[in-house]
Amino acid sequence: MKKQSVFIETYGCQMNEYDSDRIINALQAEPVDSPNTADVIIINTCAIREKADHKAVSAVGRYNKLKKNNPNLIIGMSGCVAQLYGKKLLKDMPYLDFVMGPRGIPKIPKIIDDIRSEHKQRPLETSMDVQDIFDVTPYHKKGKISGFVSIQQGCNKKCAYCIVPTTRGSEINRPLDEIIFESQELVKQGAKELTYIGQTVNSWKHSKMRFNNLLDHLQEINGLERIRFTTSFPKDISDKMISSMKNNNKVCRQLHLPVQSGSNRVLREMRRTYSIEWYKDRIQKLKDAIPDLALSTDIIVGFGSEKEDDFESTMNLIREIEFDTVYSFKYSVRPGTPGENMESHVPDEIASEWLSVLQAEQKEITLKKNIEKIGSNFNVLLEGFSKQNNKDLFGRTTHNKVVNVKNVDQSFIGKTVRVKITNAMQNSLVGEII
Ligand code: SF4
Repeated sequence: MKKQSVFIETYGCQMNEYDSDRIINALQAEPVDSPNTADVIIINTCAIREKADHKAVSAVGRYNKLKKNNPNLIIGMSGCVAQLYGKKLLKDMPYLDFVMGPRGIPKIPKIIDDIRSEHKQRPLETSMDVQDIFDVTPYHKKGKISGFVSIQQGCNKKCAYCIVPTTRGSEINRPLDEIIFESQELVKQGAKELTYIGQTVNSWKHSKMRFNNLLDHLQEINGLERIRFTTSFPKDISDKMISSMKNNNKVCRQLHLPVQSGSNRVLREMRRTYSIEWYKDRIQKLKDAIPDLALSTDIIVGFGSEKEDDFESTMNLIREIEFDTVYSFKYSVRPGTPGENMESHVPDEIASEWLSVLQAEQKEITLKKNIEKIGSNFNVLLEGFSKQNNKDLFGRTTHNKVVNVKNVDQSFIGKTVRVKITNAMQNSLVGEII
């Protein structure tokens, strides 16, 4: 029987990318790059910011036009927006065939079968059922060098601005043997680098195991060359974790550690549970252990009663730490979060101004750090053809820097090569094999 073809438009984080792969896998479907040839179109949504949530809803309207030529086309919405608005989406969009939250993925084959056989009631799957939550047949996309493994679902923190605990539920950690099994299978299927994902990935624990023990076990997997993990929570960076990172030669020299604000007052309002002194202490300990560690962070501007001097504290922090990358956003109120009822939100024009000041300064820091790499040599794991042209290959350093490598043929894809950096751009480096 011909496999059904599925087009998925994915919004948001790596967790959503992973979920999109799980959907394809659960359906045993043929993923396609164009919605025009698909039997099923799924918009896998993100609710973390208002903008992403609006984009996803308008995508549904756009794809609905394809039903004119293909009346059997099924259009569904999955992910956090689906979880958040559930029934309302089905009511507002009569052409939407199903709505399914992140925990509904194991049920997707039945959802599609029901639609094809009955076409009466449109399925709504938003229960917080934890059964089969990690039910994954290990699947690695052919030709890809890196892959994802989910080790945790949901979140137990209660950050005042965040919708994730509502849409993805409370934290559930995956048992070690399942993580090891999936990793081994992905390596057999061609993965050389795996990114372990969870909302607060370093709070992972199972039985008596903690995240540092997990890193030690992952190091033992034959054929796995590189280990990354995201997203870490500052309060859960333990000394043992730092020591495991230092002593594990497969763990990449890169850490994404969202700080969100440089002001203790704003951090308290955000309910982040750490102080800026704690954050800086962890960074110092990490740098003492791993001097070349590349750091990235997330920052929200305009939250709650943030004032000019709070924002200045954030600017001082980015100047002091000199992150390699900062993902910065203007706060947007999310329904059902504690932030929704907080007063004295910063006027939009002020938040926009702060955001552009921060982004402009960080742009300079990032470029300066990239330029400093010219003339240095790095190991680069080559992943495929460069996005800039079809001649060069691209890969990543252990620090997660993208490097476009000149004069190298495609037989090198999947290999780690030594590269001398010859040029630096805002978002990538250029180099040649030595
Ligand atoms: S740690 Fe905070 S920001 Fe991150 S997912 Fe959990 S509640 Fe949201």
